[in-house]
Amino acid sequence: MINIFKLSKDSIMKKVENAGFPAYRGKQLIDWIYNKSVFDVESMTNLDKEFKEYLINNIKFVTLETLKIIEDDKSETIKFLLLLGDRNTIEMVIMRYKDKDSSKNRNTLCLSSQVGCKVKCPFCATGTDGLVRNLKAEEIVQQVTIANSFLKKYDTKINNVVFMGMGEPFFNKDEVLKAASLIKENYEISSRKITISTSGVIEGIKELADKELKYVLAVSLHAPTDRIRDFLVPINKKYPLNELIKACRYYQTKTKKRITFEYIMINGMNIWPDDARQLANLLKGIDCHINGIPVNSVSDSEFERPKKKDIYSFKKMCEKYGLSFSIREEKGTDIEGACGQLKNKERK
Ligand code: SF4
Repeated sequence: MINIFKLSKDSIMKKVENAGFPAYRGKQLIDWIYNKSVFDVESMTNLDKEFKEYLINNIKFVTLETLKIIEDDKSETIKFLLLLGDRNTIEMVIMRYKDKDSSKNRNTLCLSSQVGCKVKCPFCATGTDGLVRNLKAEEIVQQVTIANSFLKKYDTKINNVVFMGMGEPFFNKDEVLKAASLIKENYEISSRKITISTSGVIEGIKELADKELKYVLAVSLHAPTDRIRDFLVPINKKYPLNELIKACRYYQTKTKKRITFEYIMINGMNIWPDDARQLANLLKGIDCHINGIPVNSVSDSEFERPKKKDIYSFKKMCEKYGLSFSIREEKGTDIEGACGQLKNKERK
Protein backbone atom coordinates (compact mmCIF):
# COMPACT_ATOMS: atom_id res chain seq x y z
CA MET A 1 0.00 0.00 0.00
CA ILE A 2 1.37 3.38 -0.92
CA ASN A 3 0.29 6.64 0.67
CA ILE A 4 -1.15 8.94 -1.99
CA PHE A 5 0.35 12.00 -0.29
CA LYS A 6 3.89 10.97 -1.09
CA LEU A 7 3.10 11.08 -4.82
CA SER A 8 3.22 14.01 -7.19
CA LYS A 9 0.28 14.43 -9.57
CA ASP A 10 2.41 12.98 -12.39
CA SER A 11 3.24 9.92 -10.32
CA ILE A 12 -0.44 9.42 -9.49
CA MET A 13 -1.25 9.51 -13.21
CA LYS A 14 1.50 7.01 -14.01
CA LYS A 15 0.46 4.69 -11.22
CA VAL A 16 -3.16 4.67 -12.35
CA GLU A 17 -2.21 4.06 -15.98
CA ASN A 18 0.30 1.33 -15.06
CA ALA A 19 -2.49 -0.41 -13.18
CA GLY A 20 -4.42 -0.54 -16.48
CA PHE A 21 -6.93 2.27 -15.93
CA PRO A 22 -7.53 5.10 -18.42
CA ALA A 23 -5.84 8.46 -17.79
CA TYR A 24 -9.14 10.20 -17.02
CA ARG A 25 -9.49 8.05 -13.89
CA GLY A 26 -6.22 9.50 -12.61
CA LYS A 27 -7.50 13.01 -13.32
CA GLN A 28 -10.75 12.30 -11.48
CA LEU A 29 -8.84 10.99 -8.49
CA ILE A 30 -6.62 14.09 -8.40
CA ASP A 31 -9.69 16.30 -8.66
CA TRP A 32 -11.32 14.60 -5.65
CA ILE A 33 -8.23 14.94 -3.52
CA TYR A 34 -6.76 18.29 -4.45
CA ASN A 35 -9.80 20.29 -5.60
CA LYS A 36 -12.64 18.79 -3.61
CA SER A 37 -10.63 17.67 -0.53
CA VAL A 38 -12.47 14.33 -0.47
CA PHE A 39 -10.47 11.28 0.65
CA ASP A 40 -13.09 8.66 1.25
CA VAL A 41 -13.11 6.47 -1.85
CA GLU A 42 -16.77 5.57 -1.44
CA SER A 43 -17.66 9.28 -1.65
CA MET A 44 -15.88 9.70 -5.00
CA THR A 45 -19.14 9.36 -6.87
CA ASN A 46 -17.90 9.39 -10.47
CA LEU A 47 -15.47 6.46 -10.06
CA ASP A 48 -16.58 2.99 -11.13
CA LYS A 49 -16.57 -0.08 -8.87
CA GLU A 50 -13.42 -1.60 -10.33
CA PHE A 51 -11.33 1.57 -9.86
CA LYS A 52 -12.67 2.07 -6.33
CA GLU A 53 -11.67 -1.50 -5.47
CA TYR A 54 -8.19 -0.89 -6.86
CA LEU A 55 -7.84 2.26 -4.74
CA ILE A 56 -9.10 0.58 -1.57
CA ASN A 57 -6.66 -2.31 -2.00
CA ASN A 58 -3.61 -0.36 -3.12
CA ILE A 59 -3.67 3.22 -1.88
CA LYS A 60 -3.65 4.72 1.58
CA PHE A 61 -5.34 8.07 1.98
CA VAL A 62 -5.39 10.30 5.07
CA THR A 63 -3.64 8.49 7.92
CA LEU A 64 -3.74 11.38 10.38
CA GLU A 65 -6.71 11.60 12.67
CA THR A 66 -8.01 14.93 13.96
CA LEU A 67 -8.30 14.64 17.73
CA LYS A 68 -9.23 18.18 18.55
CA ILE A 69 -9.95 21.48 16.81
CA ILE A 70 -10.02 24.77 18.69
CA GLU A 71 -11.22 27.82 16.84
CA ASP A 72 -11.12 31.34 18.25
CA ASP A 73 -14.20 33.56 18.31
CA LYS A 74 -13.38 35.33 15.06
CA SER A 75 -12.34 32.13 13.22
CA GLU A 76 -8.94 33.70 12.67
CA THR A 77 -6.88 31.08 14.44
CA ILE A 78 -7.74 27.42 14.26
CA LYS A 79 -5.57 24.98 16.12
CA PHE A 80 -5.51 21.24 15.45
CA LEU A 81 -4.25 18.35 17.50
CA LEU A 82 -3.56 15.43 15.15
CA LEU A 83 -2.96 11.77 15.90
CA LEU A 84 -0.35 9.92 13.84
CA GLY A 85 -0.49 6.23 12.95
CA ASP A 86 1.90 5.36 15.80
CA ARG A 87 -0.25 7.23 18.38
CA ASN A 88 2.10 10.21 18.62
CA THR A 89 0.46 13.61 18.32
CA ILE A 90 1.38 16.83 16.54
CA GLU A 91 -0.16 20.25 16.19
CA MET A 92 -0.84 22.56 13.30
CA VAL A 93 -2.41 26.01 13.16
CA ILE A 94 -4.36 27.82 10.49
CA MET A 95 -4.07 31.59 10.67
CA ARG A 96 -6.61 33.50 8.60
CA TYR A 97 -5.83 37.07 7.62
CA LYS A 98 -8.93 38.78 6.34
CA ASP A 99 -8.76 41.82 4.10
CA LYS A 100 -11.48 44.29 3.13
CA ASP A 101 -10.87 43.07 -0.39
CA SER A 102 -11.67 39.37 0.03
CA SER A 103 -9.49 38.42 -2.96
CA LYS A 104 -6.53 39.40 -0.75
CA ASN A 105 -7.52 37.12 2.14
CA ARG A 106 -4.66 34.86 3.23
CA ASN A 107 -4.83 31.51 4.93
CA THR A 108 -1.50 30.49 6.37
CA LEU A 109 -0.85 27.00 7.66
CA CYS A 110 1.83 26.62 10.29
CA LEU A 111 2.72 22.96 10.05
CA SER A 112 4.90 20.55 12.00
CA SER A 113 7.91 18.67 10.66
CA GLN A 114 8.82 16.57 13.71
CA VAL A 115 7.22 15.05 16.79
CA GLY A 116 8.91 17.07 19.54
CA CYS A 117 12.18 18.88 18.95
CA LYS A 118 15.71 18.46 20.16
CA VAL A 119 16.63 22.14 20.00
CA LYS A 120 14.88 22.74 23.32
CA CYS A 121 14.42 26.50 23.19
CA PRO A 122 13.43 27.32 26.78
CA PHE A 123 10.41 29.44 25.79
CA CYS A 124 8.87 26.70 23.63
CA ALA A 125 6.55 23.96 24.86
CA THR A 126 7.51 21.63 21.99
CA GLY A 127 11.10 21.30 23.12
CA THR A 128 10.14 20.19 26.64
CA ASP A 129 10.48 16.46 25.97
CA GLY A 130 13.08 16.55 23.21
CA LEU A 131 12.74 14.83 19.85
CA VAL A 132 10.48 11.81 19.47
CA ARG A 133 10.73 11.28 15.71
CA ASN A 134 10.85 12.87 12.29
CA LEU A 135 7.67 13.16 10.24
CA LYS A 136 7.55 11.54 6.82
CA ALA A 137 6.90 13.77 3.81
CA GLU A 138 3.40 12.32 3.43
CA GLU A 139 2.58 13.11 7.07
CA ILE A 140 3.64 16.71 6.48
CA VAL A 141 1.68 17.03 3.22
CA GLN A 142 -1.47 15.63 4.83
CA GLN A 143 -1.54 18.59 7.19
CA VAL A 144 -2.35 20.82 4.20
CA THR A 145 -5.01 18.37 3.12
CA ILE A 146 -6.67 18.37 6.53
CA ALA A 147 -6.53 22.17 6.69
CA ASN A 148 -8.13 22.53 3.24
CA SER A 149 -10.80 20.07 4.15
CA PHE A 150 -11.63 22.14 7.23
CA LEU A 151 -11.62 25.41 5.26
CA LYS A 152 -14.22 24.11 2.81
CA LYS A 153 -16.90 25.48 5.15
CA TYR A 154 -15.49 28.97 4.55
CA ASP A 155 -15.13 28.30 0.84
CA THR A 156 -11.41 28.99 0.93
CA LYS A 157 -8.05 27.18 0.93
CA ILE A 158 -4.55 27.36 2.33
CA ASN A 159 -2.41 29.71 0.24
CA ASN A 160 0.66 30.11 2.48
CA VAL A 161 2.60 27.43 4.28
CA VAL A 162 5.20 27.93 7.00
CA PHE A 163 7.36 25.17 8.43
CA MET A 164 7.25 26.77 11.83
CA GLY A 165 5.21 24.37 13.93
CA MET A 166 6.69 21.58 15.98
CA GLY A 167 10.25 20.64 15.14
CA GLU A 168 13.36 21.97 13.43
CA PRO A 169 12.73 21.50 9.69
CA PHE A 170 16.41 21.18 8.76
CA PHE A 171 16.87 18.28 11.20
CA ASN A 172 14.42 16.47 8.94
CA LYS A 173 15.72 18.13 5.80
CA ASP A 174 15.14 15.44 3.17
CA GLU A 175 11.51 14.79 4.12
CA VAL A 176 10.81 18.52 4.56
CA LEU A 177 12.20 19.38 1.12
CA LYS A 178 10.29 16.48 -0.41
CA ALA A 179 7.10 17.67 1.31
CA ALA A 180 7.67 21.31 0.26
CA SER A 181 8.08 20.25 -3.35
CA LEU A 182 4.89 18.13 -3.22
CA ILE A 183 2.95 20.98 -1.59
CA LYS A 184 4.18 23.34 -4.27
CA GLU A 185 3.21 21.07 -7.12
CA ASN A 186 0.07 19.35 -5.85
CA TYR A 187 -1.55 22.34 -4.12
CA GLU A 188 -0.14 24.88 -6.57
CA ILE A 189 1.33 27.03 -3.82
CA SER A 190 4.33 28.90 -5.21
CA SER A 191 7.79 28.73 -3.59
CA ARG A 192 7.55 32.32 -2.44
CA LYS A 193 4.53 31.35 -0.34
CA ILE A 194 6.34 28.51 1.37
CA THR A 195 8.54 29.52 4.30
CA ILE A 196 11.10 27.31 5.95
CA SER A 197 11.85 28.59 9.41
CA THR A 198 15.03 27.32 11.03
CA SER A 199 16.56 27.81 14.43
CA GLY A 200 19.85 28.24 12.56
CA VAL A 201 20.95 24.91 11.08
CA ILE A 202 23.70 26.07 8.76
CA GLU A 203 23.83 22.98 6.52
CA GLY A 204 20.13 23.48 5.73
CA ILE A 205 20.57 27.16 4.86
CA LYS A 206 23.50 26.31 2.58
CA GLU A 207 21.56 23.55 0.87
CA LEU A 208 18.68 25.92 0.12
CA ALA A 209 21.22 28.33 -1.33
CA ASP A 210 23.14 25.74 -3.36
CA LYS A 211 20.02 24.13 -4.79
CA GLU A 212 18.66 27.64 -5.45
CA LEU A 213 15.33 26.60 -4.01
CA LYS A 214 13.14 29.67 -3.93
CA TYR A 215 11.42 29.04 -0.62
CA VAL A 216 11.38 31.91 1.83
CA LEU A 217 14.03 31.52 4.52
CA ALA A 218 13.18 32.56 8.07
CA VAL A 219 15.76 32.32 10.81
CA SER A 220 14.87 32.32 14.50
CA LEU A 221 17.49 34.78 15.63
CA HIS A 222 16.04 35.93 18.95
CA ALA A 223 19.25 37.57 20.20
CA PRO A 224 22.08 39.78 18.93
CA THR A 225 24.87 38.12 20.94
CA ASP A 226 26.06 34.55 21.51
CA ARG A 227 25.72 35.07 25.24
CA ILE A 228 21.93 35.52 25.07
CA ARG A 229 21.42 33.24 22.08
CA ASP A 230 23.25 30.31 23.69
CA PHE A 231 20.48 30.42 26.27
CA LEU A 232 17.45 31.20 24.09
CA VAL A 233 18.34 28.96 21.14
CA PRO A 234 20.70 26.32 22.57
CA ILE A 235 21.68 25.15 19.09
CA ASN A 236 23.70 28.38 18.96
CA LYS A 237 26.49 26.56 20.80
CA LYS A 238 26.90 24.39 17.72
CA TYR A 239 26.15 27.09 15.13
CA PRO A 240 27.32 30.38 16.67
CA LEU A 241 26.10 33.72 15.40
CA ASN A 242 29.09 34.63 13.23
CA GLU A 243 28.78 31.34 11.30
CA LEU A 244 25.01 31.60 11.10
CA ILE A 245 25.14 35.13 9.72
CA LYS A 246 27.86 34.09 7.26
CA ALA A 247 25.55 31.32 6.00
CA CYS A 248 22.71 33.85 5.69
CA ARG A 249 24.92 36.16 3.62
CA TYR A 250 25.90 33.19 1.44
CA TYR A 251 22.21 32.30 0.98
CA GLN A 252 21.40 35.87 -0.02
CA THR A 253 24.27 36.14 -2.48
CA LYS A 254 23.12 32.93 -4.18
CA THR A 255 19.36 33.48 -4.16
CA LYS A 256 19.02 37.29 -4.00
CA LYS A 257 16.10 36.68 -1.66
CA ARG A 258 15.19 38.71 1.39
CA ILE A 259 15.57 36.89 4.70
CA THR A 260 13.15 37.07 7.60
CA PHE A 261 14.61 37.04 11.09
CA GLU A 262 12.28 36.05 13.91
CA TYR A 263 12.99 37.85 17.16
CA ILE A 264 11.12 36.77 20.27
CA MET A 265 10.73 39.73 22.62
CA ILE A 266 11.21 38.92 26.29
CA ASN A 267 10.94 41.40 29.11
CA GLY A 268 14.32 42.28 30.61
CA MET A 269 16.22 39.93 28.33
CA ASN A 270 16.77 40.92 24.71
CA ILE A 271 15.08 44.25 24.08
CA TRP A 272 17.52 46.69 25.67
CA PRO A 273 18.74 49.69 23.63
CA ASP A 274 22.11 48.00 23.29
CA ASP A 275 20.44 44.90 21.82
CA ALA A 276 18.97 47.05 19.05
CA ARG A 277 22.40 48.53 18.31
CA GLN A 278 24.11 45.13 18.25
CA LEU A 279 21.34 43.66 16.13
CA ALA A 280 21.82 46.39 13.54
CA ASN A 281 25.58 45.74 13.49
CA LEU A 282 25.09 42.01 13.14
CA LEU A 283 22.70 42.32 10.20
CA LYS A 284 24.48 45.15 8.42
CA GLY A 285 24.29 44.75 4.65
CA ILE A 286 21.74 41.91 4.70
CA ASP A 287 18.44 42.58 2.97
CA CYS A 288 16.13 41.42 5.71
CA HIS A 289 13.01 41.96 7.71
CA ILE A 290 12.67 41.35 11.43
CA ASN A 291 9.52 39.87 12.90
CA GLY A 292 9.36 40.87 16.54
CA ILE A 293 7.24 38.35 18.44
CA PRO A 294 6.29 39.28 22.01
CA VAL A 295 6.76 36.07 23.98
CA ASN A 296 3.66 33.97 24.47
CA SER A 297 3.97 32.69 28.01
CA VAL A 298 4.02 28.93 28.45
CA SER A 299 2.50 28.03 31.82
CA ASP A 300 5.17 27.94 34.56
CA SER A 301 7.39 29.94 32.22
CA GLU A 302 10.12 32.17 33.54
CA PHE A 303 9.64 34.47 30.55
CA GLU A 304 7.58 37.57 30.79
CA ARG A 305 5.93 39.38 27.94
CA PRO A 306 7.22 42.96 27.72
CA LYS A 307 4.91 45.91 28.25
CA LYS A 308 3.42 47.32 25.08
CA LYS A 309 5.44 50.54 25.37
CA ASP A 310 8.70 48.54 25.64
CA ILE A 311 7.79 46.44 22.62
CA TYR A 312 7.22 49.54 20.52
CA SER A 313 10.25 51.38 21.81
CA PHE A 314 12.49 48.44 20.80
CA LYS A 315 10.90 48.45 17.36
CA LYS A 316 11.54 52.19 17.07
CA MET A 317 15.18 51.80 18.10
CA CYS A 318 15.71 49.06 15.51
CA GLU A 319 14.13 51.24 12.84
CA LYS A 320 16.34 54.14 13.87
CA TYR A 321 19.30 51.90 13.06
CA GLY A 322 17.81 51.22 9.63
CA LEU A 323 16.27 47.81 10.27
CA SER A 324 12.91 46.85 8.82
CA PHE A 325 10.92 45.68 11.83
CA SER A 326 7.33 44.66 12.39
CA ILE A 327 5.59 43.25 15.42
CA ARG A 328 3.75 40.03 14.96
CA GLU A 329 1.09 39.71 17.57
CA GLU A 330 0.89 35.99 18.29
CA LYS A 331 -2.48 34.83 17.14
CA GLY A 332 -4.28 32.32 19.29
CA THR A 333 -2.91 33.19 22.71
CA ASP A 334 -6.40 32.45 24.08
CA ILE A 335 -6.51 28.97 22.52
CA GLU A 336 -3.11 27.62 23.55
CA GLY A 337 -1.85 28.98 20.25
CA ALA A 338 1.90 28.71 20.84
CA CYS A 339 3.64 25.69 19.44
CA GLY A 340 3.36 22.62 21.68
CA GLN A 341 0.99 24.12 24.23
CA LEU A 342 -2.14 22.28 23.15
CA LYS A 343 -0.37 18.92 22.93
CA ASN A 344 1.11 19.33 26.41
CA LYS A 345 -2.23 20.41 27.85
CA GLU A 346 -4.05 17.44 26.31
CA ARG A 347 -1.41 15.04 27.59
CA LYS A 348 -1.78 16.38 31.13
S1 SF4 B 1 11.10 27.00 19.00
FE1 SF4 B 1 11.27 25.63 17.24
S2 SF4 B 1 13.41 24.98 17.29
FE2 SF4 B 1 12.99 25.82 19.33
S3 SF4 B 1 12.34 24.02 20.57
FE3 SF4 B 1 10.48 24.95 19.70
S4 SF4 B 1 10.10 23.81 17.84
FE4 SF4 B 1 12.23 23.43 18.41
